[in-house]
Amino acid sequence: MPPARLAPVAVAEKTFKNFIAGQWVDSAGGATFESRSPANGELIGTFPRSTAEDVDRAVEAAKDAYEDWRLVPAPKRGEILFRFGQLLIEQKEDLAQLMTREMGKVLAEARGDVQEAIDMSFYMAGEGRRLFGQTTPSELRDKFNMSVRMPIGVVGVITPWNFPIAIPSWKIAPALVCGNTVVFKPATDTPLLGERFVGLLGEAGVPAGVVNVVHGFGADVGDRIVRHPDVPVVTLTGSRETGVAVMRNAADHLKHVHLELGGKNAIIVLDDADLDLAVEGIVWSAFGTSGQRCTAASRVIVHEAVYDDLEARVVAAAERLRLGPGWDESTDVGPVINRGAIEKIHSYTEIGRSEGANLLTGGEVASGDGFGDGFYYRPTIFGDVEPQMRIAQEEIFGPTTALIPVRDFEEAVRAANGVPFGLSSSIFTREVNRAFRAMRDLNTGITYVNAGTIGAEVHLPFGGTKQTGNGHREAGQAALDVFTEWKSIYVDYSGRLQKAQIDTAT
Ligand code: NAD
Repeated sequence: MPPARLAPVAVAEKTFKNFIAGQWVDSAGGATFESRSPANGELIGTFPRSTAEDVDRAVEAAKDAYEDWRLVPAPKRGEILFRFGQLLIEQKEDLAQLMTREMGKVLAEARGDVQEAIDMSFYMAGEGRRLFGQTTPSELRDKFNMSVRMPIGVVGVITPWNFPIAIPSWKIAPALVCGNTVVFKPATDTPLLGERFVGLLGEAGVPAGVVNVVHGFGADVGDRIVRHPDVPVVTLTGSRETGVAVMRNAADHLKHVHLELGGKNAIIVLDDADLDLAVEGIVWSAFGTSGQRCTAASRVIVHEAVYDDLEARVVAAAERLRLGPGWDESTDVGPVINRGAIEKIHSYTEIGRSEGANLLTGGEVASGDGFGDGFYYRPTIFGDVEPQMRIAQEEIFGPTTALIPVRDFEEAVRAANGVPFGLSSSIFTREVNRAFRAMRDLNTGITYVNAGTIGAEVHLPFGGTKQTGNGHREAGQAALDVFTEWKSIYVDYSGRLQKAQIDTAT
């Protein structure tokens, strides 16, 4: 087992501030919190534990900056995002190394996280020259009709720790290109990556006040952003429970609320599947990022004809995975994010056992030699799981997956759909008719055919059905609907008063 040695890159600076109106400033209250590496407990930095007062200052700055930023031509806003994408390319390796230390994911995945932000920045940079509306004929003579996208104002951006560079880019890049300004609260487990992200935006040319960072906890900073009367849009990626609270607390001001929440994603393996390919897809989707992806495959629904064979192969593959710190290139599975996470994951192992599921491998904290003060959990697979068991219904958000045997395609789709969430799904089959039926019948925002449940690309909508969200999507063109309002414009050049729906004899 690789030792949990110190990561190669050292961060000289250890005390960090908020970023408001283009200045790095202390929190009004002076309290702080620490970010520590989940791989070995190393101190990454100390950050302001901000209060409502800090949020209010940031909102004020964002409100002031909005008055000019909304008038900057969209192609120019796009050019700044393009420069940001170029800076991310230059800094990709440094950011990936830092991510491995602050958040724990293995280096290859950390590079992928940064790459996603590069892709999103370039995509949204291009949007600066599109932001298409519509022109339509008028029902009256000498009249011109069009619809245009308008920015909304200050956007509150609240993010989780699992994609600390990618997720902020999914929200902040479209918010900016559409002409909004931003108050950003990064997760308290990854504040340094949040601050790097914003530092690079400043370097790319985003003017003072257009993007502000306020560090701190959901109950203080997040809650104030959600309730602040001058923040008309709130975009949150997080757990279902947080999403419900945010929606409720934003209701008093009838805010636009965009929620990307949890998942309980399933891979279906049919009797005609390429099993080698399916095993690869399962292991990657269940244990990549230590299972801490909203799209992670925490259920595998398997046709009974291939169940025993697949079970044996998946267990063998999981047992070959090497657990360790993400910066070690030989590591397959890194730590989970913190002590709370490891306790939650282990509690689900106990729940699975008590429900009568068959623990096939894992199910324990990896500690002792080489694991130091890190939070490592062994890849865990339950067999003979029934679809209604809690381990097959609730989001665990760790390296645990449940194998569910079924008799046929119909039962597989019923089981896949029989959960409160609807983010991602996948089917392994070589039969085109069943693949198309699955694409139609799986009730999720994303469906993969002959691939795992993870691997979204930035130019397609991303999000889920049911309790994974509230009907919005991020990424692609769909993201623009979160960050703009439609305005319909009618221009009458007849020189006389024409009455719609009344002057019908034109
Ligand atoms: P979390 O809900 O605990 O926290 C998310 C963010 O919300 C954090 O910044 C937190 O400080 C803040 N927050 C907490 N309470 C708040 C409140 N009352 N008001 C305002 N802000 C508040 O989630 P997490 O543990 O950071 O992330 C894991 C969760 O995120 C999982 O459920 C996962 O499925 C989900 N997720 C979803 C997607 C998606 O696109 N659907 C992507 C990644 C993660």
